[in-house]
Amino acid sequence: MKALVKAKAETGIWMEDVPMPEVGHNDVLVKVKKTAICGTDVHIYKWDQWASQTIPVGMHVGHEFAGEIVELGSEVKGLQIGQRVSAEGHITCGHCRNCRAGQRHLCRNTEGIGVNRPGAFAEYISVPAVNICPLPEGVSDELGAILDPLGNATHTALSFDLVGEDVLITGAGPIGIMAVAIARKVGARNIVITDVNDFRLDLAREMGATKAVNVTKDSLKDTMAALHMTEGFDVGLEMSGVPQAFGNMLETINHGGKVALLGILPEGSGINWNHVIFKGLEIHGIYGRRMFETWYKMIAMLESGLDMSPILTHRFGVDDFQKGFDVMCSGQSGKVILDWAA
Ligand code: NAD
Ligand code: ZN
Repeated sequence: MKALVKAKAETGIWMEDVPMPEVGHNDVLVKVKKTAICGTDVHIYKWDQWASQTIPVGMHVGHEFAGEIVELGSEVKGLQIGQRVSAEGHITCGHCRNCRAGQRHLCRNTEGIGVNRPGAFAEYISVPAVNICPLPEGVSDELGAILDPLGNATHTALSFDLVGEDVLITGAGPIGIMAVAIARKVGARNIVITDVNDFRLDLAREMGATKAVNVTKDSLKDTMAALHMTEGFDVGLEMSGVPQAFGNMLETINHGGKVALLGILPEGSGINWNHVIFKGLEIHGIYGRRMFETWYKMIAMLESGLDMSPILTHRFGVDDFQKGFDVMCSGQSGKVILDWAA
């Protein structure tokens, strides 16, 4: 079958023929229809330090996908051939304390599809049946392919009560922009998002941001004054992974504020702990998606009118994958879809 393989230890990704995946007793074989390119795939494409230390050369990558079940392992129950599905990309061990307590997102032995095991940028993918998430009629294959990052946004945004609150989101990458729409949907008051990229800030405005601030041109404090926010933000969602952005958040958040950290900060990043201590902040690290509560919540929100369509900015047939990676690398995009059925 065709797959996008990290075939060489250098920048790039290559379409190659690879063997069909094996389908174990408890696995499901999915014929992939649509995939989306994640920031992680861009790291792998660029072959940065993290990627070169993590990804085995020769593996096919990708983890954001939707498709159709074509084969069921002999022990699989409750799923059907022909069913439209996506899947949770974190494969958890099932036997650690957290897994046994139903807190799979905290599994210490998590493996990632397209990171530690063969991925979804392929004609077929085999995944444990427990990871499969069926798609209702109202959720298209394209949306199905972005449930992984939408799940990151949902997990982060729903980690604190946003009703009536003033929310700061730092980082208008695809996940930050999706978080804007979720915060709007669940009833936040002011939603301010920051970035350094005007294309993405425009998209965030379209998705419901009260103010989208380019921090290289405008000051967050002036924006707050214009919104008559005298005390500070109630909730912060850090989605940039940039220490300066996190620093701005700690400065502008109100006393007793709540912060959820999704963005992956460089190792050794420092913060002003005095903000955390004297403001009595609550800081919560976020990894992946809650299994499977986040999946139920986001699919329900999509079915009840959460509109994610503006974030899907580019679509390519998979043979044009290079164009997809180029536009992702340019920063002038939301989510980029690769169509495997085209
Ligand atoms: P992304 O890299 O596309 O978005 C980050 C955004 O931050 C970019 O648009 C960038 O321009 C912006 N930025 C740069 N400097 C800034 C500054 N000073 N102030 C505000 N914004 C600034 O990433 P994404 O795919 O949207 O993911 C968001 C973050 O979440 C990344 O750090 C990613 O690594 C991380 N992530 C974490 C998990 C997890 O499980 N914890 C999962 C997925 C992604
Ligand atoms: Zn576990």
